[in-house]
Amino acid sequence: MSDIIRLLPDSVANQIAAGEVIQRPGSAVKELLENGIDAGGDNIELIIKDAGKTLIQIIDNGCGMSPTDARMSFERHATSKIKTADDLFRIRTLGFRGEALASVAAIAQVELKTKRHEDALGTHIIIEGSTLKSQQPCACSAGTSLMIKNLFFNVPARRNFLKSDPAELRHIIDEFQRVALVNPDVAFSFYNNGKVLFQLPKSGLKQRIANIIGSGSYEKLIAVSQETNVVKVTGFIGKPESARKTKGEQYFFANNRYIRHPYLNHAVEEAFHDLIPDGYFPTYFLYLDVDPAQIDINIHPTKTEVNFQDHQTIYAILRSAVRAAIGKFSLSSTLDFDAEQSFNFNFPKDKPIVAPGITVNPDFNPFVKNPQPELRLPAGGAGKNSSNSGWERLYEGMQHQETEYQQDNQTILIGADFGSNERADRGFMQFQNRYIVTKVKSGLMIIDQQAAHERILFERFLDRIDQKKGMAQQQLFPQTVKLSASDTELVNELIGEISLLGFIIEPFGHNTFIINGTPADLSENNIQELLENVLENYKKNQLGLKLDRKSNLARSMAKNLAVRAGKTLMTEEMQSLVDDLFACKVPGLSPSGKPITAVISAEDIEKRFL
Ligand code: ADP
Ligand code: MG
Repeated sequence: MSDIIRLLPDSVANQIAAGEVIQRPGSAVKELLENGIDAGGDNIELIIKDAGKTLIQIIDNGCGMSPTDARMSFERHATSKIKTADDLFRIRTLGFRGEALASVAAIAQVELKTKRHEDALGTHIIIEGSTLKSQQPCACSAGTSLMIKNLFFNVPARRNFLKSDPAELRHIIDEFQRVALVNPDVAFSFYNNGKVLFQLPKSGLKQRIANIIGSGSYEKLIAVSQETNVVKVTGFIGKPESARKTKGEQYFFANNRYIRHPYLNHAVEEAFHDLIPDGYFPTYFLYLDVDPAQIDINIHPTKTEVNFQDHQTIYAILRSAVRAAIGKFSLSSTLDFDAEQSFNFNFPKDKPIVAPGITVNPDFNPFVKNPQPELRLPAGGAGKNSSNSGWERLYEGMQHQETEYQQDNQTILIGADFGSNERADRGFMQFQNRYIVTKVKSGLMIIDQQAAHERILFERFLDRIDQKKGMAQQQLFPQTVKLSASDTELVNELIGEISLLGFIIEPFGHNTFIINGTPADLSENNIQELLENVLENYKKNQLGLKLDRKSNLARSMAKNLAVRAGKTLMTEEMQSLVDDLFACKVPGLSPSGKPITAVISAEDIEKRFL
């Protein structure tokens, strides 16, 4: 009998290997997103059709590839990220095994267009089942676009094994979120069957988290930060009262890679132990930074389990970091409610300094050299009339002081000339019927009127729903509105919240509702149109943003009722808009995360005249 052992052809070996790396559309999405990040892109688009089964396309504006590299990238163990085995212990990029592209090329029809920034022409490659079909120069923008069509077209067993579209889409969303959560400085958009699922602008981490899990969560996040020589822990935890009955929002990242770690999860749950009821789970987004040599990287690329050499120490540090963050939060929130502004801000020198009545420092944290109490604006001014707002009170007590409030990564300085005595000559100007320009201590502040009003209305509506204090005004003549079947269903589902906003609304059968009253401050008289627009907006948000019902409704109402760009404002209107804005909890960002204010510093202005 002749010899029977043969080497498998590359295409077969690749197909077998592909089974390990690419198990489902979600794994291909993960690999390609990570390649985009590794390539240094700061804008990444993900386009999928049929939960990735028909099409996955990722477009990045990263470094791109030369024609030769583009061809090479599909070879197995072809990588630009490691050269020697030693590199394995220093690896900081996401991929390094050089298997992803070879794998997808083995089991799909793949089209690559890529161009380096310095090249005039890009290259276009079509490859199918590991066979190169064509490679040609092409005109394309700098960066890389990779299209994967008909995943598993040549592996029917795999294809048949895929779950329903919603289940596969869920996996893709999970992978997408895990990547988006470690790259807030990269803008992402994500489309499924032509619909926007996520639109994430570059932002700070806290805003990115809120954009992903629902903007109502922004206020519910507490910062965690602790640096030791074993591990650096940063990130956010949800306030204890935002704990949920499902384990949904628990994320660990180690060196910017999502990991699962039941042991460390226990450390966090321990820290929350006596603060949340049994059966509830804390929300957390915690980022561990450790020396790569301390992590066992000899792990499967698709596995999310890792081993830390020093896991017991990390456990203790993590627990204490979370504890410290909760302690700090409880301290600052007590101060907020006691209205002890004085403790939050520096007092003017000529005023007596009142010693804070705290003898034990719950904020003490052995790992931080100089713990800084969090600087906060007083809570809950929004929705009240502005002369009584937290902002007003704040400035009365703060003549000749500079206040700095930090919101995400923007810092805004509002100076004493913004205090109430001098308000009359503060001066407001409208620019392009779109922006309000006013003077602040540090320069000129420009406020986007529409975004500002959206923020004000959003907090006001949210407050009404939360406090159950919507005020209705009886309609002289009740109006009937007739909606589509699906909108009717939605109104029925939301009728509790809609009533809290101040609508007196009654189902009348046959998709009809009678409106007996509307929110007292609503000037809109076409209720039908308003409702339809609000519901439309609500549904759009529901698809992409996973907002909770209250925030979604408040946001949709705010969006529809906010003053538009293009509307001329009277000085008094500008003044009350600005007052109301700074009474908001988050005056710097619109509900959808757009900046509301920009400051041109005095310095910048001076420089222009040098
Ligand atoms: P790995 O990421 O493990 O190196 P891949 O198969 O994912 O392996 O990619 C192979 C190589 O192709 C990478 O090392 C990189 O040099 C190049 N590459 C892949 N995707 C991109 C991209 N989007 N932009 C630039 N280069 C890329
Ligand atoms: Mg890769």
